[in-house]
Amino acid sequence: MPPRSSLVYQACRYFSELATLYGYLPIETPIFEHTQVFERSVGEATEIVGKQMYTFEDRGGESLTLRPEGTAGVVRAFVQHSLFMTEQLPWRVFYVEDMFRYERPQAGRYRQFKQLGVEAIGGKGPQLDVEQIELCLRFLEGIGVGDLEVRVNSVGDESCRPAYIRELRGFLERTEVAASLCGECRERAERNPLRVFDCKRASCKAVVAEAPRMLDRLCDGCREHLELVASGLEAVGVGYTIDHTLVRGLDYYTRTAFEVVCGSLDAAQNAVAGGGRYDGLVELMGGPPTPGVGFAVGLERALLAAEAAGGIETSARSRSSGKAPGSPEAGGVPRFDPTVPVPDTVVVPLETTVARASISSCLGLASALRASGMVAFVADGGRSLKAQLRSADRLGARVVAIVGEAEVSAGAVTLKSLGRDRESERDQVTVPMEQAVDRVREMLRASGEGLRE
Ligand code: AMP
Repeated sequence: MPPRSSLVYQACRYFSELATLYGYLPIETPIFEHTQVFERSVGEATEIVGKQMYTFEDRGGESLTLRPEGTAGVVRAFVQHSLFMTEQLPWRVFYVEDMFRYERPQAGRYRQFKQLGVEAIGGKGPQLDVEQIELCLRFLEGIGVGDLEVRVNSVGDESCRPAYIRELRGFLERTEVAASLCGECRERAERNPLRVFDCKRASCKAVVAEAPRMLDRLCDGCREHLELVASGLEAVGVGYTIDHTLVRGLDYYTRTAFEVVCGSLDAAQNAVAGGGRYDGLVELMGGPPTPGVGFAVGLERALLAAEAAGGIETSARSRSSGKAPGSPEAGGVPRFDPTVPVPDTVVVPLETTVARASISSCLGLASALRASGMVAFVADGGRSLKAQLRSADRLGARVVAIVGEAEVSAGAVTLKSLGRDRESERDQVTVPMEQAVDRVREMLRASGEGLRE
């Protein structure tokens, strides 16, 4: 049975509040797109495109498809409106939208369902992946879903995946291996060999346990990215397991792929959220090479899991009291504030010899700032300090926190006010990390703009 509309409403509002703290702005994409948008981005050899799309011809003879997932439409909009020229990148957006897939309906699997998702387009740093995984998990925990496990993998990129796919295909086509695969997997071996890892049949599972692993074939760049994601997750207190069989259904993923599963749901439908990086997708859709990363939570499934664990959590209720327009009685989704969230603090890592420690302590600080109600995120990095400060200023950030080599070795952070007296030396101070949240709060008060509600 679909969840009650008031729960849907509360959960959506809680999601929007959390996403705002991470700097994400709401977006609405059309319910249908040209079929090509999904065929090109999701990939012709995937289950979604091959079997699950609701496709029809309009009166003009154009082929249209009801949205089966959120990323393709967001990326189409990003390219069509040339947002790579006009927006501060990464462009962070979130959506709460209905998706449509032709599937056999059962508990937790519907033909129309809601996904709550985020996309960050134009950032390549592992910190974005980490912040999204953290956001996803905090949301699920916040609505009361227990028994959660975060599974992470890397599916490689254009420099290491093609050779791996050839090797995997070669393995799957060996006579003795092919003989043990089911018919569907034999077909997958040809069209989309990675999907063989998704097969639930015991005989196929036994075969692929012997298959070469993408994890062992990653190029240096992909390996380092995965290691930084792993250390970043540790820094923000998110437990995870590395699962080399996690490939996800969509073609467009590169590097990080992740999934959150809930142990109290039936094993066949236990994924409550999934996401990953798609560094080649914008280019595939006709834009310039631009990395991206995103995830989606399946709302009905998450609410089923929350109800099984004793009902939607009170933290989600109380945070959602009162203010936003729309009402639970009206059912469905609240209207979201369409203004771009202004960051209270942008945390800037410096890519020095201590890049890993720097990124980890930036992630820890941004997480602590958000936990005390401030809008904060880690900058994408990869640029000079000056460029990062300029970009934080354009975003309207009120404080910039910098963690360079000296700060890492001293367990400290340099805080710089971008408020009214920004030129004054007094507005820059280096403090021990454990005092950083309080100092940022003081600086925001002193800037005269006060703390946001
Ligand atoms: P995907 O876009 O396939 O990665 O799915 C992301 C999440 O959406 C999954 O983890 C599920 O929680 C949810 N989901 C996918 N398909 C369905 C469906 N047919 N009905 C309900 N939830 C779904």
